[in-house]
Amino acid sequence: MICTIDSNSGFCFGVTRAIKTAEEELPKGALCCLGDIVHNGQEVARLEGLGLQTIDNDDLRSLPPHSRVLLRAHGEPPSTYWIAEQRGIEVIDATCPVVKKLQDRIRACYELHKNDEAVPPQIVIYGKRGHAEVIGLQGQTNNTAIVIEREEELDQLDFSRPIYLFSQTTKSVEGFQSLVEAIEARRSLLRNNGITSSREDYSAPFEYHDTICRSVANRVAQLQAFAKAQDLVIFVGGGKSSNAKVLYKNCVEVNPNTIFISTPDELEEKLSTFNFQLSTLKVGICGATSTPLWLMEKVRDQLTDFYQS
Ligand code: SF4
Repeated sequence: MICTIDSNSGFCFGVTRAIKTAEEELPKGALCCLGDIVHNGQEVARLEGLGLQTIDNDDLRSLPPHSRVLLRAHGEPPSTYWIAEQRGIEVIDATCPVVKKLQDRIRACYELHKNDEAVPPQIVIYGKRGHAEVIGLQGQTNNTAIVIEREEELDQLDFSRPIYLFSQTTKSVEGFQSLVEAIEARRSLLRNNGITSSREDYSAPFEYHDTICRSVANRVAQLQAFAKAQDLVIFVGGGKSSNAKVLYKNCVEVNPNTIFISTPDELEEKLSTFNFQLSTLKVGICGATSTPLWLMEKVRDQLTDFYQS
């Protein structure tokens, strides 16, 4: 058996930076993280072992003054900063700079157009409803932004009004492009049918901004090339990670012999569903942007033990 860990898998820059910040801040005193620092239970448990306490928004509202709260890479809406300020809480902001920049762009767009009362604009976020990053992005628009997860939800939009489209950083480039095409198609249908906005001379703008993080988008091609070259792929990812679910599907597309596990303990049961000799295989281990390298190494070690026993 040849077992290889994909060198392009593992934490993205933003997650690495947030974890490093936590590790640097923990020795200085008690530290809470608002939400799981990363969508990977094993890594959260490791950092909790070092003293990091994971809290939710209700906990934030009852923390005593001078508590220290780390904001993870996904970013937060302005209301979180406001609550922290009101309660005298020290914020350690580990928002990924790429997400921060996106928040700034959305806020600037909102500020620029919020008073266009004659033709109220629609800021649209292509993303997963309820995802922490999306909540942070919606917050930049006073929660007026419309979240679209898939094309079927486009009926929520008024195509005769301006549309400003942005994307959650971890969505797929293809999905974004196809959403742009679908919006264009609905707008031209409206024009061709002679149904325009109430102001006849008005042609509603449609601006779209591909704000997908290339650190994630570029992974798909790399991951698929890796998966294709293996006889068996073991994808390691957290059950709560949307990025893990998407990347796992990308692997299955090119190699149906792909299994998903969150911990090495799940390995034996998942492998039992495959009817082949491990000893003759090329096995590849890969993961999401939230999968730590140490966990993929543990899976490799367990697999080696399993094969030898
Ligand atoms: S995926 Fe990109 S934008 Fe999101 S945290 Fe990682 S580096 Fe930042």
